[in-house]
Amino acid sequence: MENGQAAFRDALIAAGLLIPTGVDGLYGRSGVFEDVVERFNDLITTWGGGDGADVMRFPPGVARHQFEQSGYLKSFPHLAGTVHAFKGDERAHQSLLRRLEEGEEWTDAQLATNVVLTPAACYPVYPTIAERGPLPADGALVDVYSYCFRHEPSLDPARMQLFRMREYVCVGTPEQVMEFRQSWVERGRALMESLALPVAVDLANDPFFGRAGRMLAASQRDQGLKFELLIPIASAEQPTACLSFNYHQDHFGLLWDLRTPDGAVAHTACVGFGMERVALALFRHHGFDVKAWPAAVRAVLWG
Ligand code: ATP
Ligand code: ZN
Ligand code: MG
Repeated sequence: MENGQAAFRDALIAAGLLIPTGVDGLYGRSGVFEDVVERFNDLITTWGGGDGADVMRFPPGVARHQFEQSGYLKSFPHLAGTVHAFKGDERAHQSLLRRLEEGEEWTDAQLATNVVLTPAACYPVYPTIAERGPLPADGALVDVYSYCFRHEPSLDPARMQLFRMREYVCVGTPEQVMEFRQSWVERGRALMESLALPVAVDLANDPFFGRAGRMLAASQRDQGLKFELLIPIASAEQPTACLSFNYHQDHFGLLWDLRTPDGAVAHTACVGFGMERVALALFRHHGFDVKAWPAAVRAVLWG
């Protein structure tokens, strides 16, 4: 399995689609790869843009105070990436340069900034919506798109450390967000089938940390809170999650004090599109030469 992943990665690099950096999970992308990502991003808008979502674009960093409040460190301390920076004086600078030169550790002198790398595109949305006060009667619908960081270095080219996630996020009553999620499970499947990709939708869980995390994961599955749309990419036996459909119940509502007009704690849900994973799925199933892709697929993406 690992071999298949590394072989697929090497093939993508040899074809120039991915540009290696020497760090697993950190890649540049060619113009062809980026064109596919951009065309797919537009396709998402074609399917979802009619719902009147509020478009928000954040840089790939969240405010540290928001990150601390988000609860991410309780569930996923192993995936988080914090931004650190030099805050020393000239003496400290000399010492940094000396250690760099001598191949010694220099990063331990870096201090935390107020920026944490965004772990999922929807994280800045909840505090933003909370700032606005009680929700309107039809809830809130937000369209976000961001680079995300997760510390999960891997030989699998579909498991990157920095990757892009497009999301629609719904905040409202339990009925409103459940209907949103159900509609996206169906739309997401149809959207991906329009690209002639072999898809399966299955129950899933998040990679919660530690022993308590195993219980959280089991309960997430029991309650049917997370579904993934899977496509074989680097491995046929273990298909890769390319889209995910998440119902958070009142988790973020309680954390951020999100309220429906009648004062009840709001529920939230999101659909996430893994942009690089979808591009990789297309390259896997239709080949590295986009001009040779099936005409129907080309028509969907390039019109
Ligand atoms: P996995 O189960 O593969 O670890 P996930 O369940 O953690 O993925 P989500 O947290 O639901 O993924 O993130 C939303 C989407 O972002 C996923 O459906 C996937 O397409 C994409 N994604 C998640 N992690 C990565 C990664 N390391 N590299 C590239 N894309 C990713
Ligand atoms: Zn989300
Ligand atoms: Mg998963």
